[in-house]
Amino acid sequence: MFCSHCGKEVSDEAYVCTYCGCLVGKGKAPQKDSGEQANVMAILGLIFALFCPILGIVFGAIGMVKAKELNGTGERMASWSIVLSIIVSILFITAVVAIA
Ligand SMILES: [Zn+2]
Repeated sequence: MFCSHCGKEVSDEAYVCTYCGCLVGKGKAPQKDSGEQANVMAILGLIFALFCPILGIVFGAIGMVKAKELNGTGERMASWSIVLSIIVSILFITAVVAIA
């Protein structure tokens, strides 16, 4: 494809023109990666919430911070993992107290 700014030919895979540095093609920003990172953290938080609530809270909090940096992507999921972690830890503590 050709750069819409300077007209020189650039790679189809490139998102920045190697000649003038302008955004070309689909204009894909590398921001997508950090958005997925927030989702991964939120999913890890949900998984850990079930068998290790402390890690669930940690991953949920990381996911929430990352989601807030990126217009709330995965923020709801991250907050659910924190809530679930707290519920599981309360149930766990209640069970331990009931047995003892
Ligand atoms: Zn250019």
